[in-house]
Amino acid sequence: MTTSRTVLVTGGNRGIGYAIAERMIADGHRVAVTARSGEGPAGSLTVRADMTDAATIDAAFTEIEAELGAVEVVVANAGITKDTLLLRMSEEEFTSVIDTNLTGAFRVVKRAAKGLLKGRFGRVILISSVVGLYGSPGQINYASSKAALVGFARSLTRELGARNITANVIAPGFIETDMTASLPEAQQQQYLDSIPAARFGRVAEIAGAASFLAGDDAAYISGAVIPVDGGLGMGH
Ligand code: NDP
Repeated sequence: MTTSRTVLVTGGNRGIGYAIAERMIADGHRVAVTARSGEGPAGSLTVRADMTDAATIDAAFTEIEAELGAVEVVVANAGITKDTLLLRMSEEEFTSVIDTNLTGAFRVVKRAAKGLLKGRFGRVILISSVVGLYGSPGQINYASSKAALVGFARSLTRELGARNITANVIAPGFIETDMTASLPEAQQQQYLDSIPAARFGRVAEIAGAASFLAGDDAAYISGAVIPVDGGLGMGH
């Protein structure tokens, strides 16, 4: 059994975030999720927040602090895609994906940082993607936002590593969620053909990696990129 912590998962109303929240509850943590709509799993505290709006993130933290205590483990999971080829990609399609996926993580981690420093403990877990380092046609916006999270975690490790705060990245491959279900079937088959494990991943498999990084056994792991991708991105 690992030490019980206060955990925040952003985008915890569905998909990977929901599964991470479920697993953190099963691990014995106190769990809050942010959601724009819907609810986190049973046993979690759901708070409203939009990753593009720092004021809503601040209000969400204040609510969590009152209900569960200071956040000790932050899982920045909320993310979007707006796929299209470079020549067709508008500036809005580029910047809005960066704003949610990268600046959103910045807003959340910045708001959490004071509490982590005060509590002399912190685990920051950023949900990136295999395509951040692998690249993907039609995803210049998304891949840029996800690659940047690696620099984010490594800089945070150098900045706050001496304060018992770790920062790591999980790089999922193709996981069965709404995000992948919306891809055209031919594209899904093409991805499948390139995955050594010959199957898509399950949300619980990402949750398992997050559980490990939040737990006592991961105290000396920081600045790492942990692929959970069936071997798709080998060599990163
Ligand atoms: P989903 O599309 O199923 O869920 C995305 C989550 O992010 C939802 O909870 C959504 O909330 C939330 N979200 C999106 N935009 C905002 C915003 N502006 N403010 C607050 N919340 C927001 O995605 P997945 O579960 O598949 O993905 C989760 C993370 O994992 C993402 O960062 C994604 O990039 C990453 N990932 C996913 C992979 C996959 O194969 N599925 C592969 C690699 C990485 P709402 O319900 O309100 O829209």
